[in-house]
Amino acid sequence: MRKSLIATLLCLGAALAVAAPSKLEIYWIDAEGGAATLIVAPSGESLLVDSANRTPDDRDAKRILAAAHEAGLKKIDILLTTHFHGDHIGSMPALAKMIPIGAFMDHGESVEIHRPQVAAAYHAYEELSAGKRRILKAGDRIRLKGVDIQVIASAGQAITKPLKGAGQKNAACADFKEHAPEQDPDNDQSVGILLKFGKFKFIDMGDLTWNYEQKLVCPNNLIGQVDLYQTTHHGLNRSNSPQFVWAIQPRVAIMNNGPRKGGPADVFETLRKSPGLEDIWQGHLALATPKEVNTDEKMIANLEPTAECKGNMLKVSVASNGAYTVTNLRNGFSKTYQAR
Ligand SMILES: [Zn+2]
Repeated sequence: MRKSLIATLLCLGAALAVAAPSKLEIYWIDAEGGAATLIVAPSGESLLVDSANRTPDDRDAKRILAAAHEAGLKKIDILLTTHFHGDHIGSMPALAKMIPIGAFMDHGESVEIHRPQVAAAYHAYEELSAGKRRILKAGDRIRLKGVDIQVIASAGQAITKPLKGAGQKNAACADFKEHAPEQDPDNDQSVGILLKFGKFKFIDMGDLTWNYEQKLVCPNNLIGQVDLYQTTHHGLNRSNSPQFVWAIQPRVAIMNNGPRKGGPADVFETLRKSPGLEDIWQGHLALATPKEVNTDEKMIANLEPTAECKGNMLKVSVASNGAYTVTNLRNGFSKTYQAR
């Protein structure tokens, strides 16, 4: 009797040890073409990259809160705002009322401060973040226990020295064609991060635009290769140049597009031509792009236009051995990849 009880307790102990959170988890909250990516370290510390849109019903703040609850969080340790556009900072005041936010990080003052709407959002941010704000420069590190996060672009500046193992010449740069300057130049100021967890590498560049991407990959690729790429700028073709994508050679791309924002055919073409790319996952079916150009329906989290959308998430779980699993929370479909 006593022996079997001990055996039972031992089994229970082993089960608990297995269940202990040893994985890095990343959630893509569907913000209908806005950005909100929640990163939860195995330590339980969390980093939210961008806080999506403001709507009268606080839709996106509620969706971010639901993701935080799904991840078992009671606070968000760091909110990183890549830049000060409404689709990246909009739900922040509402969110801050729903869940505590420990620290705020960003690129410094918006370069569109002369626009009244931007100024209002920026000043609200300044007020909320007072005393808890850090302005990031390229080369800085963001401390999240158990995970290495390096800032590789911020305020229009990129790192100037290659990351470890990177620095190779990028042959595609010979064909680079510069775009006209941005009408919304705060995109160019986006904070971009490279996250490392063991062998696994994930890159999120916010809305960094075509001309600014080049600073990181031309004439030499300063980043090296990554496993997972959040397509820049919601998968718009104002970003995602072949020079950038084919340099970082992601194995998996996740597009945080909306029903009518991001995912034109030429971006899919660039991604599919990228050496070593295995799969594209999408937050939304891109309605203006032919269905057959979109990725396989089972890898798309939301198929409906915004009015009927339930806001299903995509989730990535990364094990310490570098195996990472992408799951579509709409249908439970998942696929596991191995970090290089
Ligand atoms: Zn955006």
